[in-house]
Amino acid sequence: MELRELGHTGLRVSRLCFGTLTLGPLQADLTVEEGGGLLAYAIARGVNFCDTAQLYKTYPYIREGMRRSGRYDLIISTKTYAYTRQLAVEAVEEARRALDRDYIDVFLLHEQESVYTLEGHKEALDYLYECKAKGVIRAVGLSTHAIAGVRGAVEKGLDLVFPMMNVDGLGLIDGSRPQMEAAARDAHDAGLGVFAMKALGGGNLHRRAPECFDYILGLPYVDSVAVGMQSTDEVDLNLSFFLGQRTDPALRDRVAAKPRRLLIEDWCERCGACVKRCGQGALSMGESRAVCDHSKCVLCGYCSTVCPQWCIKVV
Ligand code: SF4
Ligand code: SF4
Repeated sequence: MELRELGHTGLRVSRLCFGTLTLGPLQADLTVEEGGGLLAYAIARGVNFCDTAQLYKTYPYIREGMRRSGRYDLIISTKTYAYTRQLAVEAVEEARRALDRDYIDVFLLHEQESVYTLEGHKEALDYLYECKAKGVIRAVGLSTHAIAGVRGAVEKGLDLVFPMMNVDGLGLIDGSRPQMEAAARDAHDAGLGVFAMKALGGGNLHRRAPECFDYILGLPYVDSVAVGMQSTDEVDLNLSFFLGQRTDPALRDRVAAKPRRLLIEDWCERCGACVKRCGQGALSMGESRAVCDHSKCVLCGYCSTVCPQWCIKVV
């Protein structure tokens, strides 16, 4: 697996980053043994980089993946919604404790939309840079679904950025695919590490996976690409794309046959919390429950985190 410098962070990461959201309770809800085993399987095949978040509740899976593989040097990127110093302190300590690590490689502010939201998170950002100065964090950045988020990271001189990028521009909240490409290129040229998310549109584009990976891997300013995976078949298939190998048609068919969609259970109480939470405008309130416009949904699973009835799943 090719390794690339992640901007000027000093981190050398595999081009395939294991997105762990898919393993945990917000999505597949694998056991820690199953999810950690799958991560260890990918690590054994050359993946040295994974993405998580305070929200995802997948730290135990990553810890188990490191234990099983013996690769305690796995490069871990996590993120937090913290906006105050105290919340940032808690986020960093939670990650260090749960991952059994003195340091965290990459800490991101989660879902930033522009330089203005970054200013609203100044206390948290300042604390993350304090941690970096002490060697507790190696690089600081943000994740974003917005072109203005990438521009904000450059303006504030962050170390890296984790934008949503895919061949259809699916899920971008403030512009088009070419505008995101221009912003990511400018970030890279300014020395920021750039790693991309949602190359398959959160699963919506998975039937066009070859085209999606050709696109994202052809962008020279994207250092690594985070992809969520839930089975050894998916790991094997994605590795074949990243290694430029011929894909096994039977493997491709098996992975393609697995449908993924947002499921809203019939015990929904119509509280509306999920509709407010969805940044994609994919949810609305139906007569008996919330309903999803699957053409807008990027399968991020974030709506499920605010559901008091636990009735939303990506399956
Ligand atoms: S409906 Fe839920 S999973 Fe789909 S985009 Fe909105 S928040 Fe994400
Ligand atoms: S948050 Fe849950 S209970 Fe509330 S409307 Fe959405 S699906 Fe229904």
